Amino acid sequence: MDCGHGIGRQHWATRYNEKNNHAQCKKCNGFEGGKREVYKERVNKLYGPQTWDLLELTSRKPAKQMDAFTIRHLTIYYSLKVKEMKLLKPAI
Ligand SMILES: [Zn+2]
Repeated sequence: MDCGHGIGRQHWATRYNEKNNHAQCKKCNGFEGGKREVYKERVNKLYGPQTWDLLELTSRKPAKQMDAFTIRHLTIYYSLKVKEMKLLKPAI
């Protein structure tokens, strides 16, 4: 699986937004350009009807590339989140 971005990664303001990052198979993410219309529909279904529009607006805001400290902070945050998810994983 890939980490598919609804709004392209070049937009730093939404690059690491959890509502803009979802598992996507390599075919959909790569060869089919991320299936933007399907992505949009699913994001709105998951998070609410205005979510895609809000992501698009947010993506246009100026944002700097993250510094090493912020990246390190996010790495620790998500490492802990993965550990938490493993603990919550059903036994079957
Ligand atoms: Zn797919």
